Amino acid sequence: MNKAQTALIAALRPRLGDKGIVTDPALIAPWEIDWRRRFQGHAPAILAPADTAEVQAVLRAAAEHRVPLVPQGGNSSMVGGATPPQDGSALILSTRRMNRIRRIDAGAGMAVVEAGVILADLHAATEVEGRRFPLTLGAKGNATVGGLVSTNAGGTQVLRFGTMRGLTLGVEAVLPDGTLYDGLSALKKDNRGYDLGQLLIGAEGTLGIVTAAALRLAPAIVAHATAWVGLADPAAGLALLRRLQAASDMIESFEILPAESLAAAVAHLPGARPPLSGHHPWHVLIEAVTGDPTADPAGMLEARLAEALEEGLVSDAIIAASDTQAHAFWLLRHSLSDAERALGPAVQHDIAVPVETMPRFMIEAAAACDARFPGTHASGFGHLGDGNIHFHVRAAPGTDRERFYAEDAATITRFVHDLVMAAGGTISAEHGIGQMKRDELVRLSPERVAAIRAIKTALDPHGLFNPGKLVACA
Ligand code: FAD
Repeated sequence: MNKAQTALIAALRPRLGDKGIVTDPALIAPWEIDWRRRFQGHAPAILAPADTAEVQAVLRAAAEHRVPLVPQGGNSSMVGGATPPQDGSALILSTRRMNRIRRIDAGAGMAVVEAGVILADLHAATEVEGRRFPLTLGAKGNATVGGLVSTNAGGTQVLRFGTMRGLTLGVEAVLPDGTLYDGLSALKKDNRGYDLGQLLIGAEGTLGIVTAAALRLAPAIVAHATAWVGLADPAAGLALLRRLQAASDMIESFEILPAESLAAAVAHLPGARPPLSGHHPWHVLIEAVTGDPTADPAGMLEARLAEALEEGLVSDAIIAASDTQAHAFWLLRHSLSDAERALGPAVQHDIAVPVETMPRFMIEAAAACDARFPGTHASGFGHLGDGNIHFHVRAAPGTDRERFYAEDAATITRFVHDLVMAAGGTISAEHGIGQMKRDELVRLSPERVAAIRAIKTALDPHGLFNPGKLVACA
């Protein structure tokens, strides 16, 4: 621990107490490495304030002692966004003790929750009140509200409800000098200049600490239906989606995966089985949901899928007969990242292109990668209806993990990102930039980086917040 950090901790100990300051290396270790185990950092201490006032005290003291901080929630970032720098120059600021649900207003359809609330806990709490928070993702047992806001997370329901930007009505945050920004009042109209709340959404912890958020809730689910469909290619998938959307406003999720991803998930999950018999090159998982007691999502899906089968648009389909079966379908989808991780080293790309372009992109980009990097294998899965897939390039079997990441990964990523940009897309659809994509953002979007850096420097002049993530600042 350097001198400034030691002085900061001494200054904060009377306020935070032992619960709020962790210096035991064994307790810090799990929070120093990212979920994908690609980035190993080092932090001499974790600061864990219990409430917003304590966050203000920490930030004021950190500014005074010039100690950089890495905001961290559940540490489920896919881009090394919450991993501290390797040199031990920054401390982790964890929101894990700020886990109170301050208010659920079922009538107004809104909840005010603290940053450290875990997504799965928010789901459970809103359900008790007859409402739901309509965003979910594979890391729901770890991801926190602060992390979701700060990465503008997406997930599997963006099709109907949008990303965190659309679901966040207001934000409470502490800015780098310790000032409280109280934007929780969730006004429908508020034109007082720049929208600081929106600036903090997706800021990746570079502009301060989100301490709480007011979130939009949806009506509780009255009925839902989950279908698994086999089809020939992503183009058939998109045609099916458009047809379903024309028939109903109940389509909430539409996830695509190739046969090989399904096989990986089945192999990874003990006791799992493919939902359909026979071989289908591509699969989609569809969720139709309603809060209207008179609507019939299962009937709607059944009728539309029967038509699609008859016309040859899809090759097979099944509607889950029970919640247990629906859950088993979703478990396959949510375990894809873990399942693919177990297959060996791969470079992952969270990319988006215009939705109508995506089916062609998925096929052509995979073929281009396989041709350019012989022995590797590229494929994509994910949120077809959002034009966002997770495009993975897996190393040839037997490849040494360290060598692959050190020597090949960057070249592969540049190739994939060039294809994405040529298709009018983005190199980060929902995971953010973190440290993983920082150099690529500079390479491909220097003007955007210059504007981001100007904002960052204005609010965080000493570069104390999440150093090295999103943009590099002198
Ligand atoms: P962390 O990982 O701790 O932090 C993420 C970023 O936010 C960091 O930059 C951090 O500094 C900053 N941050 C965290 N808390 C605060 C705060 N209170 N104030 C300021 N900054 C803060 N993401 C999707 O969008 N869609 C998906 O479908 C999806 N699926 C996933 C599946 C799996 C299996 C995993 C492991 C991850 C997935 N993710 C997905 C990524 C991840 O879950 C999200 O990015 C999530 O929002 C991170 O939340 P967290 O609390 O873990 O944040």
